[in-house]
Amino acid sequence: MRFTRNPEREDELIAQFKNEMVDEERKGMFPSMTDLIYCLTKAYFKQRYFPELEDRRTILQFYQGLFTEAAIFGESQNATKGKFEGVFYHTDHVAGPMLEETKTTASSLGKAPDNIPFYQQRQVMGYMKAEGLTKARFIIWYKSGNYKPPTQPDLAVWDVLVDPDEVDANWEWMLERKQILMHHVDAKTIPTPYTYRALGDMECDGCQFASLCQLEVQGLT
Ligand code: SF4
Repeated sequence: MRFTRNPEREDELIAQFKNEMVDEERKGMFPSMTDLIYCLTKAYFKQRYFPELEDRRTILQFYQGLFTEAAIFGESQNATKGKFEGVFYHTDHVAGPMLEETKTTASSLGKAPDNIPFYQQRQVMGYMKAEGLTKARFIIWYKSGNYKPPTQPDLAVWDVLVDPDEVDANWEWMLERKQILMHHVDAKTIPTPYTYRALGDMECDGCQFASLCQLEVQGLT
């Protein structure tokens, strides 16, 4: 058997996923909580130059998120959305005072919950604040379980206790980020590259705006 990669079919599938996710309403929802949690320079470039969903990896990541949600909640999904203090948001599922947030991860269940990233915790606290919720839960699909052979997927549900002060402090952080981002949007100036990232250097790996950031630090934009 010989393998030949088929980029045309890959592009066709990516276009299909993208079409299934097109949401005209979402395009005007800026800034979103996601914009504020991840790199602000990226959020700025995305808004200014590429409001369309174009990046292949982002499309795949979003799409995977959607089918994980569909598998978990099915018809009973109550995904809420709104705008709170100028910040747009979409939750995965709300039931009474409880927020349920789904994730799919390549991280090991063996190292959980310590490896649940802080930016995801920020996202959950942001939703709690926006929706006035008092309880939260992560439902995490561990694609490779705990990596012990035979490597198999596993699922863990984490109920989380959050101090209301922590939720408020997180929201203050979010509003500060919004102020920084919107200042740059209004002034049409690029937020300093590599300064407002959530994941450090990892966030720049494969970023579609990497070359724009390099030009900016060289003073060539
Ligand atoms: S390359 Fe890094 S600093 Fe620049 S936009 Fe992307 S994530 Fe942000």
